[in-house]
Amino acid sequence: MSDPRQAWRDTLKDLGVMGLVPEPADPGPRPAVLDQGPPAARARPTAPRPLPTAPTQASPAPPLQPAPREYAPPTGPEACPEPEAVATAATLVELESRIQGCLACPLGPGRLRFVFGEGDPAARLMFIGEGPGRDEDLQGRPFVGKAGELLDRMIGAIGLAREQVYIANIVKCRPPDNRVPTGPEAAACLGYLRRQIELIRPGVIVTLGATPLRELVGESAGITKIRGQWRRVRVGDRDIPVMPTFHPAYVLRQYTPEVRKSVWEDLKAAKAWLERD
Ligand code: SF4
Repeated sequence: MSDPRQAWRDTLKDLGVMGLVPEPADPGPRPAVLDQGPPAARARPTAPRPLPTAPTQASPAPPLQPAPREYAPPTGPEACPEPEAVATAATLVELESRIQGCLACPLGPGRLRFVFGEGDPAARLMFIGEGPGRDEDLQGRPFVGKAGELLDRMIGAIGLAREQVYIANIVKCRPPDNRVPTGPEAAACLGYLRRQIELIRPGVIVTLGATPLRELVGESAGITKIRGQWRRVRVGDRDIPVMPTFHPAYVLRQYTPEVRKSVWEDLKAAKAWLERD
């Protein structure tokens, strides 16, 4: 085998630069592995290479998901009634005409019908539920499905007719899939309900289920724990007694003597309060 250092010197000489380039340090003896026979027989210190795989098609890029956008309500007095217009509505009819085009929260664009509420405009007893369901959205009236039929029977059980009370909801447009309205949706709609209550001036409010209790009264304890216990809500210049009870839809799902008796007790208490006045 020729000496590589000598070959390097010969190359420099051929190029005419011998003596101008410093000679590299002697690398010392070559590693023993170089002298262990032909390359094929040498042990490989590294892990075996993975077997080549068939070329695969590049997987398609995942579709771009648009980032959820905040709901931007349209502007204008019809889609976003001014608080001033709500506060100065002198009657329920006037209030309804000012807010029925409302699109102030994401529930607005999805509704079929606006569900303002209905009943005696001077009712002593007011029922407040959560929001319109499918039947209510179709008809534009509160509590008209199966839960509404039960509510009518509950009202009848305390000696009143539906036309003698007032029935409304926390939100006036149907939440998709009957989900619970979000806090911002409820907050966007609450001013309308509060003005309704100011105009009706009920002696007692019965809240149906957890949502009206939470959004109107600010009470977040579970409805099973708190039903039947008086609360109060300040609306306008009045403190109004509030009787929390179960939502009729819950009563239909849990149609047990205990649940029905609880609702009966709650409604009797509300009626008794009114009769004290
Ligand atoms: S739920 Fe209330 S705030 Fe939301 S769009 Fe309907 S009326 Fe307006």
